[in-house]
Amino acid sequence: MLDVFFTTDVEIWFGGMPIARENFTKAFDTCIRGRTPQGDFGLGYQVDTLQSHGLTGVFFIEPLFSLCFGREPLADIVGMVTHASQEVQLHLHTEWVDRCTAFHFEDMRHRENLHQFEAAEQATLIAAGKQLLLEAGARNINAFRAGNFGFNKDTLGALSRSRIGFDSSYNASRFGLQSGVMPGTVVVEPVECEDVIEYPVTVFRDGTRSLRHAQVSACSFAEMERLLWQALDDSRAAFVIVSHSFELLSRSQKGVDRIAVNRFNRLCRFLADNKDCFRLRGFEGLQSRIPDCQPPPLASPSWVTGYRMFEQAVRRVCF
Ligand SMILES: [Zn+2]
Repeated sequence: MLDVFFTTDVEIWFGGMPIARENFTKAFDTCIRGRTPQGDFGLGYQVDTLQSHGLTGVFFIEPLFSLCFGREPLADIVGMVTHASQEVQLHLHTEWVDRCTAFHFEDMRHRENLHQFEAAEQATLIAAGKQLLLEAGARNINAFRAGNFGFNKDTLGALSRSRIGFDSSYNASRFGLQSGVMPGTVVVEPVECEDVIEYPVTVFRDGTRSLRHAQVSACSFAEMERLLWQALDDSRAAFVIVSHSFELLSRSQKGVDRIAVNRFNRLCRFLADNKDCFRLRGFEGLQSRIPDCQPPPLASPSWVTGYRMFEQAVRRVCF
């Protein structure tokens, strides 16, 4: 049995629009509701689909926007997730610091990633984010993911101080290798660091020079399915998939991406049909199995990569 974490980062961006109250409804409709002329394919669609398959996903919700645009929309987001029996956890985008939140974090200036902040500042931001989620109706927060995967070892110490025992910010295809967690090693399985258990995002070699992470819009269904079976055959402890509240929209975010929707639905069906092999779960009540050593990243054959490249090219042209 393999523990699979289907994780979705839930966050609001303004695209090319000025960050202003008059544009907030449009940003919320796009990033959270996933509103398109073909219907809504955002958070509501995703939690309903998971629930209808009897699956539990993890939704890392970004709360700092609510310091600018009010607590109600944040409570709406938390409500959507909890009503569908999915798990709420904490996500932070420090891009919000010193925008309209300056009065909350007076001494901090804008930096794109959490790892660029001092340890004490990270602790302040994490504590504030956790408190916002709890006030918005979340019951229990025990896991975290940094925006842009931009964390470091100090982040884990800060999480420990906020009594958050799990992190899933390590992404070997982003800032993972510079994070200070197991220097010199590509971390692909759970590891304990600073009293926090790190659940790295699953990455794989695809025959190109770089590592790729397991993301709905970045992997074909065939690729994801083969990687899941491979992880099970290798007796891996965990498989962490990444998605976003706007993952199923086209690149322009003006329409639905039918290929991404198809991948998401096939993946849910596959996981529901194979519950005896794959346990889709959250961090609540999690008893971690930490392997003694780190295996190499999973690998996907070139022909599967080739098919995905073809599918991605079709998406770029059609959506
Ligand atoms: Zn994010």
